[in-house]
Amino acid sequence: MPLTPTAEVVAAESAAGAATGAFNVIQLEHAQAIVAGAEQAGRPVILQISENCVRYHGGLEPICAATLAVARAATVPVAVHADHVTSEELAREAVELGVGSVMFDASALPYEENVATTAEITRWCHERGVWVEAELGEVGGKDGVHAPGVRTDPAEAAEFVSATGVDALAVAVGSSHAMTTRDAKLDFDLITRLHEAVPVPLVLHGSSGVPDADLTRAVRAGMRKINIATHLNAVFTDIVRARLAENPKLVDTRKYLGPARDAVAAEVARLLGVLSG
Ligand SMILES: [Zn+2]
Repeated sequence: MPLTPTAEVVAAESAAGAATGAFNVIQLEHAQAIVAGAEQAGRPVILQISENCVRYHGGLEPICAATLAVARAATVPVAVHADHVTSEELAREAVELGVGSVMFDASALPYEENVATTAEITRWCHERGVWVEAELGEVGGKDGVHAPGVRTDPAEAAEFVSATGVDALAVAVGSSHAMTTRDAKLDFDLITRLHEAVPVPLVLHGSSGVPDADLTRAVRAGMRKINIATHLNAVFTDIVRARLAENPKLVDTRKYLGPARDAVAAEVARLLGVLSG
């Protein structure tokens, strides 16, 4: 059960009333930690590589090839997803390298342009068997410019899905990207209404800021893919910081990255339980 199409992973978890955990890979250690956590929990998982991560590495291929290799060696189903892609060229490169899904994010464009661009890239991905996620009602927090007050309208969401043919939709329901405190207030009534109105899985972005109990409640209200990045980075960096403070003479990177990787694996295993609905 190694590298598995995103569509299969999300469908199987949805059928069980659970959401699939989607965690961001930045370094190789993240991919290893996330898969180890999923194996500990005995649950499938999605490894995501964002356009920001690609920018950091100066290209997609090295981190994507490594992530795909980690996924292929897993003992649980693992999907690889390209997250928040705004460049059509990068979306095509990711598909050619072998990812199972792409989040094409044209949410900053005016509605009509978002629809036209997303529909075109979705057609191209579907011809290659790749699942597409899009975003409507821009989820806040990117670069600090978007307030968490943005909301997705259920009728507009249903119309957007039918006009674009996307397979999943990221919606704005009160979460915000890159939060380092877990006190976001989700609009559960809106999640329920969106779940009733939209025929494809709903995706929650900015979930690092949502407390455990509310993550479970969001899954029960109909969220089917939950993206978590910043929270795992906080777990990782806390361990690195503590190890370096304990031993200022430490130079072997494995001595602080290894324990950080173990801590992230344990947190992924715990979060997958929270997302089981
Ligand atoms: Zn996001």
